[in-house]
Amino acid sequence: MNAPALPFDNSYARLPAHFYARLDPTPVRKPGLLRVNRPLCAALGIDADWLASEAGVAVIAGNAVPEGAEPLAAAYAGHQFGQYNPQLGDGRALLLGELLDREGRRFDIQLKGSGPTPWSRGGDGRAPLGPVLREYLVSEGMYALGVPTTRALAAVTTGERVMRDGIEPGAVLARVASSHIRVGTFQYFAVRGDREALETLLGHVIKRHYPDLAGAGNPALALLEAVIARQAGLIASWQHLGFIHGVMNTDNMLLCGETVDYGPCAFMEAFHPETVFSSIDHGGRYAYQNQPGIAHWNLVRFAETLLPLLHDGQEEAIALAQEALGTFPRLFSEAHAAGLARKLGLRALRPDDDDLVEGLFAALAEDGADFTLAFRHLTEFDGPDAGDFEGLFQAGNALSAWLPRWQERLAADGEDPDARRARQRGANPVFIPRNHLVQATIEAAEGGDLAPFRRLAERVAEPWTWDPADADLARPARPEEQVRRTFCGT
Ligand code: AMP
Ligand code: MG
Repeated sequence: MNAPALPFDNSYARLPAHFYARLDPTPVRKPGLLRVNRPLCAALGIDADWLASEAGVAVIAGNAVPEGAEPLAAAYAGHQFGQYNPQLGDGRALLLGELLDREGRRFDIQLKGSGPTPWSRGGDGRAPLGPVLREYLVSEGMYALGVPTTRALAAVTTGERVMRDGIEPGAVLARVASSHIRVGTFQYFAVRGDREALETLLGHVIKRHYPDLAGAGNPALALLEAVIARQAGLIASWQHLGFIHGVMNTDNMLLCGETVDYGPCAFMEAFHPETVFSSIDHGGRYAYQNQPGIAHWNLVRFAETLLPLLHDGQEEAIALAQEALGTFPRLFSEAHAAGLARKLGLRALRPDDDDLVEGLFAALAEDGADFTLAFRHLTEFDGPDAGDFEGLFQAGNALSAWLPRWQERLAADGEDPDARRARQRGANPVFIPRNHLVQATIEAAEGGDLAPFRRLAERVAEPWTWDPADADLARPARPEEQVRRTFCGT
């Protein structure tokens, strides 16, 4: 007998039955391959040729349930735009099962758009082609940029139509995550007063994502501290790239620390701290500059779910939670400063650099400078590619006025410019999945042409290396191309 194509080992399916609902995906009319992520297949020990074959495509489409899979929709709750919803759950996704990669790390294989579940709340359980391609490009771009993130294993079309603003082609994304356990998963059990489930989930998350904490005297406190530290690092990395998540609800914050749910997200082009992308984010709750504060707010919600496990006395539990939560601003600032130093080519930021940094962001906002290219300009301006780069980006008046201050500061560090530039290149990408490019590849794909999608997928997998031949994939949107709002129509 052949070994199974996907050697599943499903730890979540072994948790108590009220953690999920078991059900199979709903088959689709006519599965068609969009793309298989070959490097990710290799890392996970999946035969990419098999996955791209009719048999593999049938699995991604949900038309065949592979041996060893135990499909389930997970239960979770969450705060959406600040409003608590006790019952969310996987409404259009199913966890197929878990795989161990070549290094023994465990990963969820999830189908997104696989049909209705008990948590669909009247939704169709499906995903349109556009959001599937968007998530594919942006999550893989984020991975290449070194940001912890869920990934895209494969995408298929369904041969069916879905109704959103209009009629759109349907698709399914196979998503890979260290796990899909969310702040909202804890909230689901906390609101029900299900202490036993909270303890089980706590043990599961520690074993799976924070094994070093296995012997901790107060496991709930140890987990809270560890999750806070990971989120501080994650949000700092978003800020460094101008990435705006768009829907930082507590059901979209994973305890493993990976970015999840690429709905109305975008990389900011013209820098402004109040930039918002989501069409439903009227108050700007999830604006660029608010992301650290919102992460902190979400972590407070997480800590609330842990109170009964932190201490038997409520006051003591609250004091422990507050102390842990109080570290977030410092941890975020430290991670943010370290990343900014790399972006600016400095060895480290010093306290007296505050003015310099504030001056830079004020200048970027005044010029409306493209966030990504402005930092790459600070990398290339005195190097061999400076001329080439000028076609792409020229410093505006405010940035030009700021430059001498920074050059003076660089001189004080005294580092060799080539070494500085090489280091800076690893922090300041040229190629990011810009919204107008993503939009153009979606429109081409809807018309049957996948070539632009493939080209962009390959380009954003190599974000650091400048290549003038791909200059069209590095430039910001022209006014008529600007996608100001991305819709949740996911
Ligand atoms: P999201 O906006 O992707 O974070 O989803 C929020 C909640 O809505 C989750 O419970 C989803 O499963 C559910 N949901 C979103 N779209 C659909 C859909 N088309 N059908 C069913 N449930 C959905
Ligand atoms: Mg979500």
